[in-house]
Amino acid sequence: MTKKFRVFATCDIGEAIELLRGRGYDVEVYPQPQAPPKSLIVEKVASGVDGLITTLRDPIDAEVFEAGKGTLKVVAQFAVGFDNINRADADRYRIPFTNTADVLTEATAEFAFFMMGMLARRMWAAELLTREMKWGFWHPYLPFLGDEVTGKTVAVIGTGRIGLAFIKKCVGFDMNVLCYDPAYQNHAFVKSVEEVNELRHARGMTREKAWIKYVAIEEALAGADYVSVHVPLLREGESPTPTYHLFNEKTLQMMKKTAFLVNTSRGPVIDEAALARALRESWIAGAALDVYEKEPLPVDSPLRDEAIADRCRLMPHFASAARITRLSTDPEKGMAGRCVQGLIDVLEGNYGGDVTKMPYVVNKEGFR
Ligand code: NAD
Repeated sequence: MTKKFRVFATCDIGEAIELLRGRGYDVEVYPQPQAPPKSLIVEKVASGVDGLITTLRDPIDAEVFEAGKGTLKVVAQFAVGFDNINRADADRYRIPFTNTADVLTEATAEFAFFMMGMLARRMWAAELLTREMKWGFWHPYLPFLGDEVTGKTVAVIGTGRIGLAFIKKCVGFDMNVLCYDPAYQNHAFVKSVEEVNELRHARGMTREKAWIKYVAIEEALAGADYVSVHVPLLREGESPTPTYHLFNEKTLQMMKKTAFLVNTSRGPVIDEAALARALRESWIAGAALDVYEKEPLPVDSPLRDEAIADRCRLMPHFASAARITRLSTDPEKGMAGRCVQGLIDVLEGNYGGDVTKMPYVVNKEGFR
């Protein structure tokens, strides 16, 4: 029987909560679907919980850690991104926090790929024609055409877990790939893709041999028919290569007029006012977004402009929203499973209690 740990979860994460209760944990779940106010999180932490289950909606910083001084032992984040958690504050208070990397990699990558296809082939506008009884005839090019994905060139911005998984999908569509990542370049992966491209070509599965290479951002943006963004949100001071407003008027103007932009990373990576202008003034052909500077997307967002509705697809932060990915209690398959396992590792002192050895702890540097 484990010690009875107290946990506050800022949202329900399904069966995994029962898994904790089955181990004797006392778990309180915030009952509303919306995020709790920060003051409630602080209040719960001050009441002495050992662990906190959070999502990307919850701001976790010094105020929370101060309230939990002496009692709070872990923050288990239900997401791979953790820009809502102040890492420097967590390190200062020596509170490990965990994330749910890997298990959402394929789901997010495939969603980005589907968004790219939906945008390029104008599926939303095409379905509207049918639904609104505006499909009056079949015609070679009226009322509009879309653009193929197969055989085109895609720029992948950020070649970490999701970026590489996205490239795998693109390889199946014979796409050429321009990779950009100033911090991490996986040349072994590039070589493997080249071998696959070689084989597909040699076996007659493709007419042209597709290619892949790392390039500078200018070359990536100027050469791509599609640009897909897979970076973490890093603000000024958090990294030598910050990603806040990486896409702005200057970088959007580097893209081809016929190119499409897909963002499943974090909203503030794109300057939305600049993007709305780029779409209005046709600097680029279209954009599909899953994440926004402010979520949910405000009613007065420039991205809601009816004038750009035909070339701007808007998804509700949905890329990882697949059943097994979100809720499986298996830490190798689901965010819920991985989230509670990260919490258990810290609270129950797995890995000899050595936080630096725990696979799901992010801020290991705070404990060396
Ligand atoms: P990761 O850490 O494995 O990869 C991120 C990559 O970005 C790294 O290789 C890093 O070197 C690179 N990078 C950092 N700064 C960069 C810069 N300035 N320019 C280009 N590349 C840069 O992370 P991941 O697991 O691939 O996830 C990426 C991000 O996707 C997460 O941080 C999260 O914000 C977002 N995400 C969103 C959803 C969703 O539902 N929409 C789901 C999962 C992840």
